[in-house]
Parts: sequence; C-alpha cells; structure tokens
Amino acid sequence: MRILLIEDNADVRANLAEQLERAGHEVDVALDGRSGLLLALAGDHDVLVLDLGLPRLDGLEVCRKLRAAKGAGPLVLMLTARDTLEDKLEGFAAGADDYLVKPFEGAELLVRLAALARRSTRQDPGVLVVEDLRYDTGTLRVERAGRALALNRVGLRILRELMAASPRVVTRQQLEQVLWDGFSPEGSVLRSHIFALRKAIDLEGLAPLVHTVRGIGYRLAREDQG
Ligand code: CA
Repeated sequence: MRILLIEDNADVRANLAEQLERAGHEVDVALDGRSGLLLALAGDHDVLVLDLGLPRLDGLEVCRKLRAAKGAGPLVLMLTARDTLEDKLEGFAAGADDYLVKPFEGAELLVRLAALARRSTRQDPGVLVVEDLRYDTGTLRVERAGRALALNRVGLRILRELMAASPRVVTRQQLEQVLWDGFSPEGSVLRSHIFALRKAIDLEGLAPLVHTVRGIGYRLAREDQG
C-alpha cells in the first residue's frame, strides 16, 4: 500500500517508517500537519497514518480538511497518546477510520492496516433497505428519510452488517470479526463507532433504529419489530 505517515516525533517517525517499509509498503513522510495535508491532497495514498498532536495543524484538522476536500479519499488511521472516549469520538467525527493509542507495537499497526485495507476492498453491489434507511453498497450512499448521511468506512461496514441481519441481533464478536478479524483493539473502540453511527442515523424526530442489546450486541430495526 501507499502510506503517508504524518508524525512530528523524529524517533517514532523513523521507527514506524522503517517497519512499514520492511512490511513492503511504500511510505511518504511529513513532519507537520500542514505539509502532511498538502501531500495527502496531492498524492494518491491508500492510507494516512496520522498523529493527533502535530505542529502547524493538528491531526483532527488535517482529517477534517482532507475529508472536506477529497470526500472518501484515503483511509485514515489516527495515532494518539490520549486514550479517552471523547478523543475517539472526535476522531471518528472528523472522518478517521480507525484509532491506535500510543504506545503500541509496530506489529499491531501492521495488523490494523491490513484489516483496514481488507475492509476498503470488500464491496458488493446491492441496496440494503430497513424502514426509511437506505444503503447503496455500490455507491456507498446512505440515506435516511431521503436525506444523505455522512458515515466513515467503519460506520459503513458496521451498518452493512446490521442492515443485512435486521431485525436480528449482531453480536459484538461478529462485528469484531468483520472489523478486525476478531482482534479486538480495545473495549471502547467498537462502542465509539456505534455511538457515532447512532448519532448519524437516528436523527432528531425520526424513530430510533440502532439499539444496544446489553451484554450481547446491537440490532437495527424499529423497536416494535422482531
Ligand atoms: Ca505528536
């Protein structure tokens, strides 16, 4: 894969670039947010490995500006030392596809990149419909009650599972299998994605469709069904 690594810490940058190259990836590097964004906009990278705390433009801003300019664009894996739910939600809201909390092993980064790449190439044609929610898996367009919704790739992947299974429950393990090949990064990551998905889909004034089945998983349906 063509990877753009945006990281201001010289040691971390050199270490990660070396591991990624050793794993067969092509790696470009940027030392600050602004030059990273310019490279990302000009290039055709498959993945951005993006540090959150960066000089000149922080990771969230880089992600937001990139999504605003390029739409789906490259996959974004965000790196951060801050392990709080709010930070994750902010990252996903800005358009990040996955999250890795520092410190991490190079091997974990490679596993997560491989999972991201698989997810992005797994697309099948067809339209899923549940109630007033419509997802065209070919064009990746999602609409609720005729309004287009913006979801990141992880959100789309989760949505596909939930819609295909609706009104049945999809277990957390099933989602983890699909998203990370069963490798569960941290307990709260899936929850953060579901939170973001629910926020995007269950718009004010519409019947809630995303439901948590405590201790088991999630289901997508009108509450009075199934
Ligand atoms: Ca940093």
